[in-house]
Amino acid sequence: MNNNPSVIDKTQALEKIAQQANDCTQCPLYKTATKAVPGAGNPEAEIVFIGEAPGYWEDQKGIPFVGAAGNLLNKLLIEIGMNRDDVYICNILKHRPPNNRDPQENEIQACTPYLKQQLLIIKPQLIITLGRFAMNYFLPSAFISKVHGVSRKISWQDFSLTLFPVYHPAAALRNGKMLEALRQDFAKIPDLLGNSKTPQKKPEKKPSQGSLF
Ligand code: SF4
Repeated sequence: MNNNPSVIDKTQALEKIAQQANDCTQCPLYKTATKAVPGAGNPEAEIVFIGEAPGYWEDQKGIPFVGAAGNLLNKLLIEIGMNRDDVYICNILKHRPPNNRDPQENEIQACTPYLKQQLLIIKPQLIITLGRFAMNYFLPSAFISKVHGVSRKISWQDFSLTLFPVYHPAAALRNGKMLEALRQDFAKIPDLLGNSKTPQKKPEKKPSQGSLF
């Protein structure tokens, strides 16, 4: 069992946010969703992936990226020698929009304080945004077709990190060119970690956030 108090503290802090998201009524999405999907993975991760919003299977299971897009994400991680226990995965929105429609501005405004708290707890070296909505949280005027696969150092909430926008796996599943671009962008990820190329391993016996629901 890992007795590192910082891991325990981070896990407990993330569980608290997960519970808050589960109880949240700050936007109407809680009314139509099955359950919240706060996030899952390694609280000590060097890499955080941020997607758009839960889809059908995520809404059913309370775990991010468990449908077809999640299977592709898992496969892409394996291709670069990682797996999802090495990283943390979450979304801009914690509840599923009806029929997977795009997130609305009021929903993003209401929900992103949870994301902000998660990132301040984990303090990753590298944030990989999946799709335009997550990218626009950090780069409001950027276009994903122009900036995907290009990393940049940013200062965010008083700490510096690397931001790396890529296409959303769900979009890549519908478009062969996007899939190839996504695969090529993923191949750059190990080098983006700089000196720390070995991902942190998931602490033993620590439940993922998704297992709370
Ligand atoms: S989507 Fe976010 S802001 Fe809206 S109810 Fe769910 S947790 Fe709250």
